[in-house]
Amino acid sequence: MGVNTKKLIQKYNLKLTKSLGQNFLIDDNIVKRIVDVAEITEKDLVIEIGPGVGSMTVELAKRAGKVVAVEIDKRLIPALEDNLGEFSNVDIINKDIMDVNINEFRGESGNVKVVANLPYYITTPIIMKLLEENNDNIDIMVFMVQKEVAQRMVASPGKKDYGALSVAVQYYTKPEKAFDVPPHCFVPQPEVDSTVIKLKVNETPPVKLMDKDYFFTVVKAAFGQRRKTLVNALHNFKALGKSKEEIKEILKKLGIDENARGETLSITQFAELSNLLFRSSQIM
Ligand code: SAM
Repeated sequence: MGVNTKKLIQKYNLKLTKSLGQNFLIDDNIVKRIVDVAEITEKDLVIEIGPGVGSMTVELAKRAGKVVAVEIDKRLIPALEDNLGEFSNVDIINKDIMDVNINEFRGESGNVKVVANLPYYITTPIIMKLLEENNDNIDIMVFMVQKEVAQRMVASPGKKDYGALSVAVQYYTKPEKAFDVPPHCFVPQPEVDSTVIKLKVNETPPVKLMDKDYFFTVVKAAFGQRRKTLVNALHNFKALGKSKEEIKEILKKLGIDENARGETLSITQFAELSNLLFRSSQIM
């Protein structure tokens, strides 16, 4: 079980860094299951974020046409190269994923898949970058994340986990929880449970928006003060510049109770609301 990963850590005398989220997978069965979820074929170009010493990269390299592995920590690169020695279809990039332009990559079939056992300190920024930055070349993303984050991604309106991340993930993709992974499958063991989640990128968005940035501003405003009613939360978000009366009138048009909180609105309702608010800003 994950003998290679443990051996490499010893051989290169690696001190794993908590601040970089370095919890390495040592369970080969879990590795195989993650790669299964991504449905990798030899036509695929796979981008792996944070390969570490390559616990998962080896399995990806066996199945994909090409793997691009982006690792921030240069201390790990020699061990990673050692582990991947026999594969000629892997490019290792020693960079922060936040500085990589994902759009540059195209696989044989056109699109790319992203697979990662994500560093937990930066999960949401990485996912938001992948969703937002015009990455229309991504088909499927499979991530290991903290269990609670997976719950937030799939949460439906009215549930306590439903928030801005749920709306963003569900606007861009169809999220599906695959399976849970306990701490003992990693070295060192994380203090939290983990879940593998598959995000299948939508070819067309589930709702029509007049202005996408405006939609996400409304969502951010609504969840920024989630204990307040939607009317107060939107009114207090000064960048929107809306009076309470205006907001109430629009909610009435949409058949939404004026005492409703943002967390009860579906993505469709957020879309209708933001479109009407946007239109009224254009008229003024
Ligand atoms: N894929 C390996 C595995 O499953 O064993 C390692 C996963 S570990 C949870 C996260 C990896 O991401 C670490 O190797 C860490 O150095 C790397 N990492 C952390 N922040 C990063 C960033 N901003 N860009 C690229 N890699 C990063």
